[in-house]
Amino acid sequence: MKTVLITGGAGYVGSSAAKAFSENGYRVIVLDNLIYGHKEFVQWGNFIEGDIGDTSLLESLFSNYKIDMVSHFAAFAYVGESVKNPRKYYDNNLVKALTLLNQALENDVKVFQFSSTCATYGNPTHIPITESHRQKPFTPYGKSKFFFEEILRDAAFSYNIRFSILRYFNAAGADPGGKIGEDHTPETHLIPLVLDAASERRPHIEIFGTDYDTPDGTCIRDYIHVTDLAAAHVLAAEKTYDAESTIFNLGNGNGFSVREVIESARTVTGRNIHVIEGNRREGDPAKLIGSSAKIMTELGWKPKYASLDKIIETAWAWHQKRFQDH
Ligand code: UDP
Repeated sequence: MKTVLITGGAGYVGSSAAKAFSENGYRVIVLDNLIYGHKEFVQWGNFIEGDIGDTSLLESLFSNYKIDMVSHFAAFAYVGESVKNPRKYYDNNLVKALTLLNQALENDVKVFQFSSTCATYGNPTHIPITESHRQKPFTPYGKSKFFFEEILRDAAFSYNIRFSILRYFNAAGADPGGKIGEDHTPETHLIPLVLDAASERRPHIEIFGTDYDTPDGTCIRDYIHVTDLAAAHVLAAEKTYDAESTIFNLGNGNGFSVREVIESARTVTGRNIHVIEGNRREGDPAKLIGSSAKIMTELGWKPKYASLDKIIETAWAWHQKRFQDH
């Protein structure tokens, strides 16, 4: 049985990955400092509360457990905040991540898996975006992820470790088991905010820009279900362990506009959703759609929740359960 250390395993995507690794026969160790994570999301594996930048904690963790793989999710991910306070992002997403990588190298970890992002591409020069698209991130968040990818490439060249880099598009939906899902404070993502408007936790949803060069004037994004993301992590980690370092995009290959998301949420919830048309949010490209052809062809990965209605159905079920008392 292989042991995987999942950093950020109390978070939205990390907790789904913990479930997927556990269900696929791995021993799971979750490390999370609970700044943004939720303790109750850790339902698979052992939980260690702590920080990826805490060298002495890492030393005892790696000596207590024989870790075969690290799957690293623990990162700050508020793009706007990263512009206002870049050092917070470079400190956590880069400096502390390097502390973690150093411990992995000291302790003969075979695979370092990294949850990266389509933000490392910057403004797309072509759609759908393939893995070979040039990387030119323009926010500290995107740059912190890109720089760490570069560090991993150098580490794999020089040391006995392989990387598994996964670049996500828009993670969405909730685990169909109903026990884990999206709960960010503050919440900035479109789908949970639309569901907040549907359940009247918030008065309305504001559309950030209706004058983009897209069919309905609103931005188009590629929403990928968190369970599909998690399954891809297991497949990619196995391929990397057995064969070679890998880089894969993870999207579902379909783009949906902000208006389409709101319309789907109206259908799924049967609720009225009050919409305000606002100004553009700075830094939003009109269209981001990923090509996941590489992981489909090479690993046989296929999204189970490719339809927007299905994604929103699972998110709505979770939303009602999680926030019914609020
Ligand atoms: N968006 C919006 N209103 C909101 C939040 C987001 O119109 O209250 C738009 C945003 O401009 C983007 C899309 O929804 O075009 C997805 O945004 P999100 O923050 O969920 O993800 P991002 O693509 O920025 O990573």
